[in-house]
Amino acid sequence: MRSKFLAIIAGLGVAALVVAAVAAIQIGTSDASAQGGSANRGEGAAATAVHAEPDTGTPLTADEAAALQYMREEEKLAQDVYQVLGAKYDARVFTNIARSETEHTTTVKTFLDAFKVADPAAGRAAGSYADGDLQALYDQLVAQGGASLAEAVNVGIAIEERDIADLKARIAGTDREDLKAMYSNLLRASENHLRAFTRQLDGSGGTGGEGYGSGQGGGQGQGYGGGQGQGSGQGDCY
Ligand code: MN
Ligand code: MN
Repeated sequence: MRSKFLAIIAGLGVAALVVAAVAAIQIGTSDASAQGGSANRGEGAAATAVHAEPDTGTPLTADEAAALQYMREEEKLAQDVYQVLGAKYDARVFTNIARSETEHTTTVKTFLDAFKVADPAAGRAAGSYADGDLQALYDQLVAQGGASLAEAVNVGIAIEERDIADLKARIAGTDREDLKAMYSNLLRASENHLRAFTRQLDGSGGTGGEGYGSGQGGGQGQGYGGGQGQGSGQGDCY
């Protein structure tokens, strides 16, 4: 009788332990999913920003197509000018950022191709542009940058400031999420480039090589403030 009573007590004890263990697992699970949720949200926002894909199911307007053609050449101009300045001066900032601009002009070409819009840069060498204004700008900037390293850095600042203004106008001028995302990636990179050139101007950018990158986490504009610091370490997207 007594032993049966003890067995019941023991059984209740085991049951209580099981309940407690299940509760602990559930608490653990909900903690983990909460953490996972916020981590995924950050990564997801960054991934969306970096991998902007053309949505070919909806045709471009004529203005959107023309803007893509222009930005294809504007990014090429940045690439071409920085390659010239990088060959002339021993400052890695130009060659590093030139590589980033190659990615940008290629990204815009990917959109042109996806929507079957003619590529104005097809068959054109470095320093050659279909757009007359960009041609004149290239000639002027290469001449200015050739004067001195300080002038070359000023050219970099002028290019990035122009690029930032144009990209903001493109983003404001379209309702398309694919174009907004792609242009926003280019905009973040331009802001990084502007900071890099400005550091050169300050004399604080002597090492040149470090961290123009990031793009990835920074300021995606959807309000995930945490992304910026995380992304800056990755450095794989100019
Ligand atoms: Mn660019
Ligand atoms: Mn740039």
